[in-house]
Amino acid sequence: MLSETFLLEKMAEITVSESDFKERGIAETDDSFKYAEEEVTATVQAILFKGGFCDSTTGENSFVCLVLDRTPFYCERGGQKSDQGEIRARDGAVLSVLDVQSVGGYVLHYGTVDGCFVCGGEAACAVEKERRAALRRGHTAAHVFDEFLFQEKVPRSDFSVVVFPDQIRIEVVKRAWTRDEIESAEKHMEEHIKRNLRLETEIVPLEEVLQRKDILSVFEEKYPKSVRVVTILGVSSQACGGTHTETTGELVDAVICGEKSLSGGKRKVTVAVGKKAVSARRKEREIEKYLQEEQNEDVLSKLEKYLKDEGGIPVGSRRAVEECLAGAKKRRAREEKERERAGIKDLEQKCLEIISSDEAVFVFSPPLSRKETAICLSRCNEKNKKVFLIQKSEAGAEYSISLGESSQGVGEKIKEKYGGRYWGKGCVSGMLSGECRPEEVARFVKDVLKQAGSL
Ligand SMILES: [Zn+2]
Repeated sequence: MLSETFLLEKMAEITVSESDFKERGIAETDDSFKYAEEEVTATVQAILFKGGFCDSTTGENSFVCLVLDRTPFYCERGGQKSDQGEIRARDGAVLSVLDVQSVGGYVLHYGTVDGCFVCGGEAACAVEKERRAALRRGHTAAHVFDEFLFQEKVPRSDFSVVVFPDQIRIEVVKRAWTRDEIESAEKHMEEHIKRNLRLETEIVPLEEVLQRKDILSVFEEKYPKSVRVVTILGVSSQACGGTHTETTGELVDAVICGEKSLSGGKRKVTVAVGKKAVSARRKEREIEKYLQEEQNEDVLSKLEKYLKDEGGIPVGSRRAVEECLAGAKKRRAREEKERERAGIKDLEQKCLEIISSDEAVFVFSPPLSRKETAICLSRCNEKNKKVFLIQKSEAGAEYSISLGESSQGVGEKIKEKYGGRYWGKGCVSGMLSGECRPEEVARFVKDVLKQAGSL
């Protein structure tokens, strides 16, 4: 399967205009079969690849565009994505139809071909029914959602809808949706689904359409002389050329799965229906279960994965997961701080033990590594500043200093003389001196402190 971007690139390579067909005397495609969904036998009128028109497909032109005299395929229009499916030639060649567009009255079937199609040859066209059914559900959902926006007094010019299989995306000029608004939109959809309302289609003269007050709006901007009007019985009518379900009940469920900001003060709302809605509800239940469980790392990482599922989980679940993960992050930071505090306390306690067990205030402890020959700790309070430079030599505690100089001050002086690195603030700080003998550092510190008048 081609990725969407790759598909669009491939399609853009095949450039053609309405006049190109007209110049070749090619008749427009009869697409009146598009609502029936039955297999249609058609004649290949034109074959296009990125080099232009050709008489037949070859192995080298695997991505092509076919134009037929008739088609059951619904092309992308009115914000509804196109059908997909297969076109099969008599001799077994197959075009996997990935996208269908139109130029004037010509329907273009884009896809990858296996085998040889020839102009003038017969082909059987079959629309992929599952996708079509999902698009129909999406399209009916668009009508129901439109009606919600009309009720909310959102002008037609302030929103647009794109229909995907089992999903609609609405772009609307609006501030962020509140929880209540999302709930009432979902409720509106759910009520229409529960009522299982019938949809009916009629062809109405344009003059009548323009006079009828019950027709909400038109999906397409061009008004033909006769307009196809689709009515959700007892609810609303819209002029629309799209494919719909027979009842609103076919939508099964509707879930708002996305709500985010776009540029220009717009919001994008994603609504899942049909199979996508069922899947979103299943994930909603899973998330609820995980949220109740002990919030261990395993559960958190599972929850994190749901956030990557854009458009696949209910907005409410997404918010709950985000809140849970933010809470966990805060908790982790707090715990980390507590551990750090406990570690410092522990270290202080150990220092104090060494100090009190020995008369030493200045004690040597084992080097942390070959280069780290000294560790300097200070405990500060307002009345009495003390610096403990602690390093234990084989002989045990050797020096004892109590002073008024800050640990930073001593640290800086050691750094000046021996190099190395000094760090720390608050009640604990440390000094890693360069290459020097601990005893030498100790003597130096003693001198520094003497000068400071502490000894
Ligand atoms: Zn419609």
